[in-house]
Amino acid sequence: MAGTITILSEQLANKIAAGEVVQRPESVVKELVENSIDAGATSIAITIKDGGKSLIQISDNGSGMNDEDAAIAFQRHATSKIKSYEDLESVGTLGFRGEALASIAAVAHVELKTRRSTEDVGSFVRIEGGDLKERSVAAAQPGTIISVRNLFYNTPARRHFLKSNNTEFKHIYDVVQRVALSRPDIAVQFTSDEEELLNLHSGTIAERLKNLYGERHFETLLPFDEKTEMLSVSGFIGKPDFARKSRVDQYLFLNKRSIVNRSINHAIFSGYEHLIEKGNFPFYLLFLELDPHKVDVNVHPSKMEVKFADEQSIYRFVMSVVRKALGSNDLVPSLDVNGPKGFDGSFASLRHASLPRHFSGGAGYNERNIFSSPSSSFTQEDSRQGPAGLDKLFSDMPTAQLPEATGPQQFAHGTREDEAQEGKAIWQLHNKYILSQIRTGLMIVDQHVAHERVLYERAIASFDNAVPVSQQLLFPHTVELSSGDFALAKELIPHLQAIGFDLKLFGKNTIVLEGVPTEIKAGTEGSILQDILDEFKNNQHRVKLDARDNVAKSFSCKAAIKAGDKLSEVEMRALIDQLFATSMPYVCPHGRPVVVKISIGELDRRFMRTS
Ligand code: ADP
Ligand code: MG
Repeated sequence: MAGTITILSEQLANKIAAGEVVQRPESVVKELVENSIDAGATSIAITIKDGGKSLIQISDNGSGMNDEDAAIAFQRHATSKIKSYEDLESVGTLGFRGEALASIAAVAHVELKTRRSTEDVGSFVRIEGGDLKERSVAAAQPGTIISVRNLFYNTPARRHFLKSNNTEFKHIYDVVQRVALSRPDIAVQFTSDEEELLNLHSGTIAERLKNLYGERHFETLLPFDEKTEMLSVSGFIGKPDFARKSRVDQYLFLNKRSIVNRSINHAIFSGYEHLIEKGNFPFYLLFLELDPHKVDVNVHPSKMEVKFADEQSIYRFVMSVVRKALGSNDLVPSLDVNGPKGFDGSFASLRHASLPRHFSGGAGYNERNIFSSPSSSFTQEDSRQGPAGLDKLFSDMPTAQLPEATGPQQFAHGTREDEAQEGKAIWQLHNKYILSQIRTGLMIVDQHVAHERVLYERAIASFDNAVPVSQQLLFPHTVELSSGDFALAKELIPHLQAIGFDLKLFGKNTIVLEGVPTEIKAGTEGSILQDILDEFKNNQHRVKLDARDNVAKSFSCKAAIKAGDKLSEVEMRALIDQLFATSMPYVCPHGRPVVVKISIGELDRRFMRTS
C-alpha cells in the first residue's frame, strides 16, 4: 500500500510560509524597504494605492541585481546576505532569511526591474502566485523597482482579513516613519493614492525629527549621546510634561534595526524617576549600537524581538543616560511671548527657556564611565547633593540655612546658575507663590509643589538610609483608625518608619505615635497619619505605584507647606535653596511645574519697551 505522505511543492510551501512573513500590506512595505536599505540605497521611494491592497511599489538607488540574481531572488532561501551559520553570529543586514521575496511573490502579482550600475542593461522579471511568467532584458536606472499588485489575490481568507484602506494605510505610514527615523541619512519619499505625503531629504536625525514632527514638537525633546567601550546609546527623549496617554511615539533601534524590548522600555521609564506616572508614556527615540556578537536577532521571523547577552548592564546604562539627559536640561517652562494667559501647561503656551548651554563644566559626571561603575551613577543619594554654584545662590543667606547635603558637588548646570544670581529680592505673593529676581528676569515658584519635591526626594533617599530621622514627641499621640486603615498602616509600617515615623500598634485599631518625621509641622501630628493613609488610597485608585513610592508621594503631599501658609523671608530662602538641591527642581512628583520664569525681554515686550 502506498504511503500517505507527499512532499509539498515549493509553490505551496511558499504560500504557506507567506502567512508568517506577509501578514498585511505593512509587512510587504517593511520587507521591501529593508531590502533597499541592505542594498545600500541612499534614496527610497514608496508608492501605495488603496492602503497597499492594489499596489505597493518600492524604488531604490541601491546595488541592483544582475540578470541571474534577479530570477533566483524569488526562490525560497535565496539570500546574498549570509553563507554560513557563522555569518549569522554577526549579521549586519536587516534581512538574512531569504524568505521575503519568495513569500510575497507567492501571494501577489510581482514585477521586478533592476540594474547594477556596472551593467549596461537591466533585467525584468514578472511572477504571479510564485510562477515565473516573464523574464527579459529591460532598460532601467541603476537600482531596483519592485511592484506588488493585488496582494492575497489567491488567498481569499487572507484578503478577507484585511482592514479598511485607511487602517492599512496607517500601518504602512507607521512603518515608513519608523524607517525614516532609523536612517535619517537615507532620503525617503512616500506617496499614497497619488498624493505625496513625505519627501524627506537625507540629513541629521535632528533634521529628520523636525521634518516629521514639526519644529514645536522638536523643542520638547532632549538629546543624549553616550558611549562606552561596549555600546553606545543616543537619541532623544521627551520632556516629562509632554508625556502622552499612549505609546505611539516610542522608537527603539538596535544597530539601526527597529526592535521591541520590554526591559529597555522599562529602563527608560525608570530613568524618568517618578517624573512620569504609570499610564503616561514619554516620547523616545533611542539608538543602541552594540557589537552584533552580543545580540541574538534570530528569535522571531519578524525580527522585532532580540535577546541581549548582558541585559542587566544595558538596562542600567540606558537608565542612567535618560536620567542624565533629564537632569542636564533646563526643564523650566517660561511664559510664552504670545500667550496672553501665560502658562497653562499646554503645548502652545510652553516655550522652553533655554537649551542646555554648557556641560563642559560638569565636573566629574560627564567624564565618568557610568557603564563600568553603575553604582556610582546618578542615584537618589547623588541627587540630593546640590549643584555646584549652589552656595552662590542667595549668598546673603545665613549659613545655617544651607542645605545639609554638602558632599562632592557633582553637577554644574548652566541653567541653574540662572537662579544662582542675586537672591537679594524675594517676595511671597498671596501666601502661595514665591517671587524672586534672577539674572534673566523673574522666577516664580509654587511654594506647595516646591516643598513637595523637596520632601519627596528626602523620603525616597531615606528608604535607602539605615537610620530614619525622627523627631520624638514629648506627648505621644494616640490615633484611632478604621480597621481598613489600621490594616493598611500595619502593612506600611516599614516604609513609614523609614521616613521617620516612630509608631506602635496598640489594641485593635489604635496606633501610638511616639515620633514623626522632622518635617511635620507642629500641631499636625495628630492628623498627618490619617492624611497620608487617605492620600495613599487615593493614589492607589488613580495610578499603580509601588507602595514605597506611594508612601513618599503621600507623605510629601500632606506634609508640605500649603498654599495659604505665610512664610518668613528666611523660610522662603531655605525652601528655594533646598528646591535647587533636588535632582529635579522643575517638576513636582506628580508632574506639575514648580518653577515658571519670565524673562526681562518678555517684560520689555509687554511694556512695549524697546531697550
Ligand atoms: P533576504 O533579504 O533575507 O536576503 P529576500 O527574499 O528579502 O531575502 O531577498 C532575497 C535577495 O534578493 C537578497 O538577499 C538580495 O540579494 C536580493 N534583493 C532583494 N531586494 C533587493 C534590492 N532592492 N536591491 C538589491 N538586491 C535585492
Ligand atoms: Mg529581505
